[in-house]
Amino acid sequence: MTTLFLTDELHAGHQMDGHPERPRRVQRIVESLMETGVIGDLEVPATAEATLDDLKLVHAPAYVDEICAFDPGEATYMIGNDTYLNSSSLRAARLAAGAARQATDAVLDGSVDNAFCAVRPPGHHAEVAAPMGFCFFNSVAIAAAAALSRPDVERVAILDIDVHHCNGTVDIFKDRPEVLVCSSFQDNFYPGRYLDYENDHVLNTPLAAGSTGADFRQGIEARWWQRIDAFNADLILLSAGFDAHLEDDISALRLGDEDYAWFIRELRAFAATATDGRLVSVLEGGYSEDVLGRVVPDHAAVLAGAA
Ligand SMILES: [Zn+2]
Repeated sequence: MTTLFLTDELHAGHQMDGHPERPRRVQRIVESLMETGVIGDLEVPATAEATLDDLKLVHAPAYVDEICAFDPGEATYMIGNDTYLNSSSLRAARLAAGAARQATDAVLDGSVDNAFCAVRPPGHHAEVAAPMGFCFFNSVAIAAAAALSRPDVERVAILDIDVHHCNGTVDIFKDRPEVLVCSSFQDNFYPGRYLDYENDHVLNTPLAAGSTGADFRQGIEARWWQRIDAFNADLILLSAGFDAHLEDDISALRLGDEDYAWFIRELRAFAATATDGRLVSVLEGGYSEDVLGRVVPDHAAVLAGAA
């Protein structure tokens, strides 16, 4: 297996003082991949920024033009619900979206088998015309839309295991039946949008506060694999949030390391037959450095076929 790993030191320039979505998240992931030796099993090229046209694949042109023209100078501005922008934020966000797109192209071209992007800021709360929830641009959605612009891709499945519902991804694709969106999330929780919205290609798996890894596995097994299989996707994109972990203070779900290990092993095995292995995992949330340092190396090692 060849697994592409994309990250960039410039993600660290995006800083919001005292905020849990902080540079150390990605830095800890890179450190842990090096400490465990997993990085030796990965292909690590440079990342390209998303172009304005890439961003406009899913975001309103006026939103993209307005936010990209904004110059915060030396200050930090709140530009959306719990979303702050400094002079490095947009570059970091465009690198995150660019990584998701670059990884997807590489997988579809067959130059690598699958990919993992350790990027920030996250993207799955960003709606068509609004930043929110630490997110500016919806990286996974941009990758999906770019994939669908290719003649060899007709359907894309987006799976989201972040503890927060992917309102942005649903907002973008709710009227595009060529994209299946499956989201597991803590119910009655942030973002409070689209939590009850379902249609024939948007599938919700809400988990009550206090739910365990067993509840998570049961929810996935009851609905996801069969639905994704029937959808006949050409590509699977994973919004990989690690904030449903018991040790992550941001939520009240109680997943353990073993549940994340179970999920990525199941997903990789499923993708091997469903999409000929074509799978791209993109970091969303996850705010405990200890959890990221343990769970993400295993995640990447499974993708690389080394675990
Ligand atoms: Zn989250």
